[in-house]
Amino acid sequence: MSDILLDVRGLEAGYGASRVLFGIDLQVAAGSVTALLGANGAGKTTTLRALCGLIRRQGHVTLAGQRIDGMATEEIVRLGVAHVPDGRGTFTGLTTEENLRMGACTRRDRAGVREDFERFYEYFPRLKERRQQQAGLLSGGEQQMLAIARALMLRPRLLLMDEPSFGLAPKVVQDIFRIMRRVREEQKVAILLVEQNASLALELADTAYLLETGRIALAGPAASVRSNEAVRAAYLGGA
Ligand code: ATP
Repeated sequence: MSDILLDVRGLEAGYGASRVLFGIDLQVAAGSVTALLGANGAGKTTTLRALCGLIRRQGHVTLAGQRIDGMATEEIVRLGVAHVPDGRGTFTGLTTEENLRMGACTRRDRAGVREDFERFYEYFPRLKERRQQQAGLLSGGEQQMLAIARALMLRPRLLLMDEPSFGLAPKVVQDIFRIMRRVREEQKVAILLVEQNASLALELADTAYLLETGRIALAGPAASVRSNEAVRAAYLGGA
């Protein structure tokens, strides 16, 4: 069994008086892809926000054995957790290249940063073509690619990805998942992937969790979650 990188026990979070997460347990193994599935409003985005300290939360969360549930976002980022938020969160007024530079702003290894520029431009040739263009003028797919590349520039140990397929054409979604497969093989990064497209997410993932109204309803190897009758009926179109 591989090493547990992220270990989440009894995570609770919400907004003001409204509770959204009611004690979530989940683990992400180092270098693996873990899918977090669930219907609209189940609490998937809230889970990612709670893990990177963007909202108040309670519970016991460790990253490589170190407690992070009481830490501020900046500290969690410094430990190697990168968040690709829903809506992508690129700096629209900056160029592609400036966005990537922002992603690397905590790094001191200049040679490594230069190598990563080349590496990620190779992963995403569209970004290389558009390196001097303002991010706000990129297409939705290109902005998603930029958000992923910017997060990778941090050289994270854990990537929290929120709905990378959202609002994109099927061809672009296929491209992005193909690149994510490569990222997972070539970069030593674990991915916690929130995705509405359960079918694609389960193809990429090793492990999957199903979230229902703030509670984990099902967990297991992706293949067994995919063959679960209830999951097939509700999330895979009965396929
Ligand atoms: P979706 O795919 O629709 O984003 P989700 O599983 O990611 O679904 P969340 O976005 O985590 O769900 O939302 C969970 C619940 O929290 C929903 O009832 C939502 O209305 C509520 N919620 C989300 N963001 C906020 C906020 N900023 N303030 C108050 N309530 C919020």
